[in-house]
Amino acid sequence: MARAFDAIVVGARCAGSPTAMLLARLGYRVLLVDRATFPSDTVSTHILHPLGAEALSKWGLLSQLAATGCPPIDTYCFDFGPFTICGAPGTDTSPVAYCPRRTILDKLLVDAAAEAGAEVREGFVVEDVLVENGRAVGIKGRSKSGDVTAERARVVVGADGRRSFVAEAVRPKHYDEKPPLLAAYYTYWSGLPMEGRFENYIRDMRGFAVAPTHDGLTMVIVGWPYAEFAENKKDIEGNYLKTIELVPAFADRLRGAKREARFVGAAVPNYFRKPYGPGWVLVGDAGYNRDFITGQGIMDAFHDAELCAAALDKSFSGARPFEDAMDEYQRMRDARVKAMYEFTCQLATLEPPPPEMQQLFAAVHGKRRAMDDFARMNAGTISPAEFFAPENVNAIMAA
Ligand SMILES: Cc1cc2nc3c(=O)[nH]c(=O)nc-3n(C[C@H](O)[C@H](O)[C@H](O)COP(=O)(O)OP(=O)(O)OC[C@H]3O[C@@H](n4cnc5c(N)ncnc54)[C@H](O)[C@@H]3O)c2cc1C
Repeated sequence: MARAFDAIVVGARCAGSPTAMLLARLGYRVLLVDRATFPSDTVSTHILHPLGAEALSKWGLLSQLAATGCPPIDTYCFDFGPFTICGAPGTDTSPVAYCPRRTILDKLLVDAAAEAGAEVREGFVVEDVLVENGRAVGIKGRSKSGDVTAERARVVVGADGRRSFVAEAVRPKHYDEKPPLLAAYYTYWSGLPMEGRFENYIRDMRGFAVAPTHDGLTMVIVGWPYAEFAENKKDIEGNYLKTIELVPAFADRLRGAKREARFVGAAVPNYFRKPYGPGWVLVGDAGYNRDFITGQGIMDAFHDAELCAAALDKSFSGARPFEDAMDEYQRMRDARVKAMYEFTCQLATLEPPPPEMQQLFAAVHGKRRAMDDFARMNAGTISPAEFFAPENVNAIMAA
């Protein structure tokens, strides 16, 4: 078998399609495969924070998303009961978020990869990672028609999500692991206008979030501690609505709305995986996962795609050895997400914040700049490390 591709990317959603697109745009020969066909849905809500929208804009894809009628979101609100913090989540150049259905976003991404020149095979299940002398050299997989084919490449990119087949095959080192902390169910409602707001309600060991999406629908996701996952499964709708009733004003709004879809639920583990080794790399959830409570996954996948494609370019072009380039990818990925990982895992416990944090949030309330920073921190526009830095906390408390 000749080596036909520079990269084979397994998984064609938020991490895989942009990685394939960016490599193909650099002139590399890329094969992108997914067992799914597109458009198709996946178990995920879909807040795309402003820096995620910025990546789409940089790639020339944001106008396509906006043209699908996805409503922009310019305000994030966090209702703690006694007070609500509302702020602007973005930057001057990327001021708004979106909440695009994955049927639409993922199709747009896979089409962009094909447009860039990647060969796309949908309905193709990877069943084997080919390894020679300890090095990944390709894949073997089955097409929809049942044909089994093997393909070779300089690198196999695992963009195949949390249950990554590629990661399972290459067995990367795991670190900073935490078990599932939160369980959540979501569905879609008509007749629940949001006027550009992403609303979050935080109550005792419960929380829910609400955002407008395509087709005039509004996504409402409700969460409780993972310890209650099994028990609450016995009556999903009852527990979902009971949680909403903790906020009577919102429950009134929901009574005027109509549920348009079934409930979908999930709980996820938190982990980092070493994202490279001989002949293979990992991007997106395959390499790093954090609870979805802060809605970082799609944006993180976009950032991984950029970092990883740039690192592979350095390696393929001979500018840097593979190990060096990928080590930098890992360090940059981890440095970018570390503080948000800790913040996310803390939030996902749904435990009340410690008293000093409650005092800080109360002090943020009503101060325009601090409220915007709070929204920007939750959006990942600024790091929690920056927001919770002693000088920033002192300035907020003193103001
Ligand atoms: C309930 C829930 C809510 C969430 N809410 C948000 C949110 O609001 N905002 C946000 O940013 N993130 C959210 N996330 C996280 C987000 O869904 C993920 O971070 C994101 O989908 C990661 O993209 P990915 O491309 O790495 O993996 P995935 O989207 O999981 O895609 C992996 C692809 O790999 C393919 N694949 C897997 N195995 C094979 C194989 N053997 N052969 C061929 N193809 C294969 C699959 O078919 C799939 O298409 C949420 C997640 C959950 C579970």
